[in-house]
Amino acid sequence: MQNVKGTHDLLPNEAAGFESIENLLKGIATYYAYKQVRTPVIEPSELFVRGVGNSSDVVRKEMYTFLDKADRSISLRPEFTAGIIRMLVNNKTYATEELPLKYFYLGPVFRYDRPQLGRYRQFNQFGVESVGNNSYFNDVEVIMMAYSMLISLGLNGVKLKINSIGDDASRDAYRKALKDYFAPHIDHMCEDCKQRYELNPLRILDCKVEEDIKIAENAPIVGQYLSKESEERFNNILALLSEYEIPYEVDPHLVRGLDYYSETVFEFHYVSATGNNYGAIGGGGHYHKLVKELGGPDLPGIGFSFGVERLYSVLKDDNLLPEDEDKVFIYMMPMGLQARKVALNLASDLRMSGYITDYCFDDCKLSAMFKRAEKKQAKYAIIIGENEINNDKVVIKDLNKQEQIEVPTSEVVDFFDKLGGIAD
Ligand code: AMP
Repeated sequence: MQNVKGTHDLLPNEAAGFESIENLLKGIATYYAYKQVRTPVIEPSELFVRGVGNSSDVVRKEMYTFLDKADRSISLRPEFTAGIIRMLVNNKTYATEELPLKYFYLGPVFRYDRPQLGRYRQFNQFGVESVGNNSYFNDVEVIMMAYSMLISLGLNGVKLKINSIGDDASRDAYRKALKDYFAPHIDHMCEDCKQRYELNPLRILDCKVEEDIKIAENAPIVGQYLSKESEERFNNILALLSEYEIPYEVDPHLVRGLDYYSETVFEFHYVSATGNNYGAIGGGGHYHKLVKELGGPDLPGIGFSFGVERLYSVLKDDNLLPEDEDKVFIYMMPMGLQARKVALNLASDLRMSGYITDYCFDDCKLSAMFKRAEKKQAKYAIIIGENEINNDKVVIKDLNKQEQIEVPTSEVVDFFDKLGGIAD
């Protein structure tokens, strides 16, 4: 059986790499006073149609949507933000918790996209949402956090691309300008673009058809249509980023593919030393109407998400993944049935004391057990034979130094504790 196209397995060393990345991101989010939330993988399809917007490619083309047994339309989440906003509206956490609500999340998302380098149909995102405060300092804090996360992972030379798509008035003016610009071309553009032209001409800028990209190259840019307030907000943000020495590049063409964004939008790009370009490693932006659209009060928000697969790939390419630390520390080598009984019990004591302990279940020769211990990269072996059983003792062998010592069974945990815990 093959796995589903666009999905991937994580073997132990890959899963360990993912976990180390996720732990670092979680730790930094926690320092920024964000709290973890978890929302369902399945949601009513309507949530994404209303939340993400039915002019976005993600909703129009890439959702895994099906009817459940009661004929309800359900979708696998193609992104997190809409689900998190639904959660905070349903639970009215905005009424009980201090604003801004600061949440982080982690888990799989699903998009029926064309699989290619860095692009999967099931992939993992880590991200944050800050809801309920409109200060531009909040935007800067969120960008600063994302940037610190990438630096902490060891990714120097990350490119932050940033733009403002303005408030409603700015975008209305911009949409009109885009309609005027595309009017003489639209009959020759792809069918999707024809629909985008009617639904939301901004989305024409996301088109991936080469001829259409060429036409869009000379389209007006949103920056020319910003209201005074939006321009001021954007300039304030850029000034703070410069002051905090967060390098950025204003990308006037950056509009992001989801319909809920307003004002600040940004993406992080990184090309690894191998030259592999996996696409944006993260992106996000400010949103104004999403909470209200989903039945809540009039609260703004800002968030971003990283693609964990893409972070893993660039870190792996650049040899920046932390070493796998989960090596078996102690390998139990019981000789005979009675010894196996003692060994399993002792292994349990060691495990409960925090020592990674593995155990040889088979009735095999000591030499074979040593081979297994070596393969598992054990640091110590505990040998229990008939002689040891009779004397209530075990033999502990340091596999690096090739030295061994006899220790009373009841003092084994103590012996390792005195070594200084789970030393390398
Ligand atoms: P988006 O909200 O679409 O910008 O997605 C946020 C991040 O998720 C992107 O910056 C990527 O790192 C990651 N991502 C998006 N789509 C995919 C995909 N199909 N496969 C892997 N990662 C993805």
